[in-house]
Amino acid sequence: MPESIHEVVIVGSGAAGLTAAIYSARANLKPIVIDGTQPGGQLTTTTDVENFPGFPEGIMGPELMDRTRKQAERFGTQFIFDQVQEVSLQEPVKKIKLTSGQELQTHALIIATGAAPKLIGLEAEKKLMGRGVSTCATCDGAFFKNSDLIVVGGGDSAMEEANFLTRFAKKVYVVHRRDSLRASKIMQERAFKNPKIEFIWDSTIEEIKDVSKENVEAAILKNLKTGEKRELKIAGIFVAIGHIPNTAPFQKEIQCDEQGYILTQNGSKTNVEGVFAGGDCVDHIYRQAVTAAGMGCMAALDAERYLEAQKK
Ligand code: NAP
Repeated sequence: MPESIHEVVIVGSGAAGLTAAIYSARANLKPIVIDGTQPGGQLTTTTDVENFPGFPEGIMGPELMDRTRKQAERFGTQFIFDQVQEVSLQEPVKKIKLTSGQELQTHALIIATGAAPKLIGLEAEKKLMGRGVSTCATCDGAFFKNSDLIVVGGGDSAMEEANFLTRFAKKVYVVHRRDSLRASKIMQERAFKNPKIEFIWDSTIEEIKDVSKENVEAAILKNLKTGEKRELKIAGIFVAIGHIPNTAPFQKEIQCDEQGYILTQNGSKTNVEGVFAGGDCVDHIYRQAVTAAGMGCMAALDAERYLEAQKK
């Protein structure tokens, strides 16, 4: 049975969702936040955040999110630990069905569902996730002291991960599917200069070996130009090939680009009246904690103005 109609429901509890919650709660809109699968979002999988304004010594990602959550709670935000299964958004009262079966109704909806790391698509990749395969060097790098590792990808994320991993690893192989990098010049140069990083060009991972059935032990690489295969003994594979926006439940009604990122205009407005979006589910360019927080703020202010206009 649906409960009473809320003013604002916010989907997602990362930097964007929690900032939207702070603003909506302070505007007395009594926001409900649907936590999603990873309360706190992607920042909970990082360590030091050194570029969030106001923290001259830096702050740990999980602590930043924990504090932001408390700030949202302080003004009356309620959290529901659940995920959105389906939505119906065309009418002025938006309907949201959660995986638990609970149904919510709201006058305004803010989508702040973030993005998830892309995977290569190998069977073994999922099986060995957390046992040698990772998408987060800052979370898992310290487990690989003196090991040989692979980073997959040629963008800024891959360069950042590779450089970071050399703090622990003996050697880091960057396996990239082309012979030039997509990463910014400064990140490329940093990686080229690092004596612990070796590039393996025009190559992909074809197979991940775990003979012991416990951990990653080797990878079979294929050179895409020559077709040649080689086995590389490594203890870990860090996949850094970009992200996929978490927008699946909304795509039927909300306009997205071909990659699934929500298209917004005039601030945070989507193509559906009363539905706003912000953070990494919209933005694939900046993807920073501070920009996500800013976009969450915009979405809350836009929602507040929309609700105000509805009353007139
Ligand atoms: P990205 O720029 O989209 O790069 C993804 C890389 O992965 C590309 O090199 C791509 O190869 C490769 N790739 C994609 N799918 C693949 C697949 N299935 N198999 C093998 N390789 C695959 O993603 P990103 O590095 O995550 O960066 C995203 C955005 O965040 C960028 O705007 C970036 O500048 C920004 N960022 C900034 C920083 C920083 O400034 N500190 C750090 C991280 C990210 P191709 O090149 O062949 O397409």
